[in-house]
Amino acid sequence: MFARDLSFLEEEHICPHCKGKMSCCEAPAIHVGDGLGWGSDVLFICLNDACSLFLNGWDQIENQYGHHASYRYMELPGTKESNVMMVGNKDAFKASVIDPEALRNQNERYRKQKKAIEDLKTCVEDDNLEPVMTLLLDESASKEIRKKAIDLLPKLGNLDCIDPIRNHEFRDKSFEQTTNLIIQALLKKNYSKECPFCMEIVKATAKKCKHCKENLN
Ligand SMILES: [Zn+2]
Ligand SMILES: [Zn+2]
Repeated sequence: MFARDLSFLEEEHICPHCKGKMSCCEAPAIHVGDGLGWGSDVLFICLNDACSLFLNGWDQIENQYGHHASYRYMELPGTKESNVMMVGNKDAFKASVIDPEALRNQNERYRKQKKAIEDLKTCVEDDNLEPVMTLLLDESASKEIRKKAIDLLPKLGNLDCIDPIRNHEFRDKSFEQTTNLIIQALLKKNYSKECPFCMEIVKATAKKCKHCKENLN
């Protein structure tokens, strides 16, 4: 995962050929024309099928090169410099149109993750469970950092970790097993146990659950 500069999402590019709003697309890894890529991971492309450049391009390329292809009008972020891309069909690039909401969410998740990794260093002395839980419950965080977070649970000894862990579906089942053992140890240390009927925490010696009134014998 990586943070991206998303300032391009604020840009509006208008196609000079059709006056239509251009689409922001993920750039192909390597562009066939120059072999070097565009130096940008996003491109603004006019994907309007009624765009005159696109409509006239078929004949133009056919006559000039004998290929079945056309042009799409393109601009790089931060510039109004004209470029064209050659496309073999009308659907080229339509699957790579960027969803701004998804990108913003991804960046937000990354930002939170980064802050939690930073806060993890001092979480025991700060008595701060939050970064541990953020990383532990983030399925996109690396396995190493999540293991590190798990190792801090016994040191923090905070029973507030139990509910979120119980409510989380771990894709990696080894996390579920390890956290379960830690929870058992934490409860024991606190002379507590989980009611097997309602999962609420009760005294280890309780004969009856104070939450659901079930008999615990
Ligand atoms: Zn256009
Ligand atoms: Zn109960």
